[in-house]
Amino acid sequence: MNILVLNCGSSSVKFQLIETDIDLIEKNADKRLAGGVLERVIGQAIISVQVEGQSKIKSAEPLRDHRAGIDWILKWITSPESKIKNIKSLNDIHAVGHRVVHGGERFTMSALINDDVIREIEDSIELAPLHNPANLKGIQGARELLGPKIPQVAVFDTSFHSTMPETSYLYAIPYQLYRRHKIRRYGFHGTSHRYVSYRYRNLVGKKLEETNIVTVHLGNGCSACAIKNGESFDTSMGFTPLEGLVMGTRGGDIDPSVIEFIRNKEGMTVREIDTMLNKQSGLLGLSGLTNDMRDLVDEEKENNDRRAHLAIEIFVQRVKKYIGAYLAEMGGADAIIFTGGIGENSSIIRERICRGLDWFGLNIDKEKNDTMVCGKEGEISNPKSKLKAFVIPTNEELLIARDTVRTVKNVPRRW
Ligand code: AMP
Repeated sequence: MNILVLNCGSSSVKFQLIETDIDLIEKNADKRLAGGVLERVIGQAIISVQVEGQSKIKSAEPLRDHRAGIDWILKWITSPESKIKNIKSLNDIHAVGHRVVHGGERFTMSALINDDVIREIEDSIELAPLHNPANLKGIQGARELLGPKIPQVAVFDTSFHSTMPETSYLYAIPYQLYRRHKIRRYGFHGTSHRYVSYRYRNLVGKKLEETNIVTVHLGNGCSACAIKNGESFDTSMGFTPLEGLVMGTRGGDIDPSVIEFIRNKEGMTVREIDTMLNKQSGLLGLSGLTNDMRDLVDEEKENNDRRAHLAIEIFVQRVKKYIGAYLAEMGGADAIIFTGGIGENSSIIRERICRGLDWFGLNIDKEKNDTMVCGKEGEISNPKSKLKAFVIPTNEELLIARDTVRTVKNVPRRW
C-alpha cells in the first residue's frame, strides 16, 4: 500500500509517501517514495520536496491554510513532474496516516478515523492547545480532499506511554484534580521511543518482554523513556512536552513557584511566562545565543563561550540525571539508546552524557562513538560493557505508515 503520512504543525505541513504492507513490515522492506516540508502554510509557503532521497524542488507558493497545503501535496505527488514510481493519480494513494500529538487517556493505540474519533481528538484540544488543532486541520483537510473511501488513521504521540503505571503518571497533587480534570503525566515522543525500542529488539534479537532499556530522544524537543519489559514504564515529558529534560527552547523541570515569582517581578502574565518557558528557555535561554546544539558546541570550542559551555553542561547533566533515575526505577537495564538530531549526530554530547556512567557498567568505545553519525545505526559501547549503548536513528513517519497499514487491515499493535 502507498501511505501518505501527514504531520501538520501550527504553521507547517510535513509529509512522506511510504510504500509498506504487512509482509514488507515483516521483512523491514518498506520504501520511502517521497517526502517534503511546507513551511508557513498560511501565507507565502516555502516548499521543499524530495523523491527517493533526491532533492527535487524548492519553491514559494501562496497558500491559504493546511487544507491548501495538503491539496498542493496531492497535486504534486500525482503530477508527472514529480516522477514518483507507480503514482499516477489519487487512486494510487491507499491510506493516510496522521501524527496526532495528544490522545488523552482515550487512545492507547492508533485509531481508524471516523466522526467519533474526530470528536474525541477535539475533546483533547484543551490538553494540547498548541498541537491538536493543527493535527485536526490536517485530518479534516485530507478527508475533504480524498473523500471517505480513503481510510485515515490517527497515530498518537501519547499512546505508547499509556502503559505507565499510576506511580509514574500521577502528580503528587490532590487526587481529585486527576479525577476531575485528568491532570496527570501523559508523555510524548511515544512514536519515536517505540520505534527505536523495536529497532533495538531487532538488532540484538530480543523478545518484546525481554526489552529493558532507557531511550533518550535528543532533538529540538528532548525526552527520556524507561522501557520495562517492552512497555513504557516512565517518561520525562508530563502533562505537556514542557517537563523533563533541557530542550532547544523549553526549560524542562522547574519549581512551579518560579511562575508566580516571575509574574510579580517582571509583570508578565501567566500566558507570557508559559510562552517564555516553551520558546525562550532551554539551550537558547541559558546560552543567550541559539537553540542549535551544533552552534553551541562550536561556540564552546572555538570561542570558549562561557554561557554556551554552561548550557551544554546543564543539558548533559539533566540527561544523566534521568538515565540514573530510570536505571534505579527499573532495577537496571540492558542498554541506553540515543536518538533524535543530537542523539544521532553528536558524538561529543553522547560521550559527555556517558562520562561517569562506568559506575553503572557503561563503557563507550571512542572510535565506534565517533563514527556512529549521519544516520548510522549500531552499538557504541565496547564488548565488555555491562550496560550497552546504541545509536538508533528514529523514523516516526515509518512507524505512522506501518500503524496505518495495520489499523486499516485490522492487525493493530501498541508496540
Ligand atoms: P531534531 O529535532 O531531532 O530534528 O533535532 C534537531 C537538533 O539536532 C538541532 O537543533 C541541532 O541542535 C541538533 N543537531 C543536529 N546535528 C547535530 C550535530 N552534528 N551536533 C550537534 N547537534 C546536532
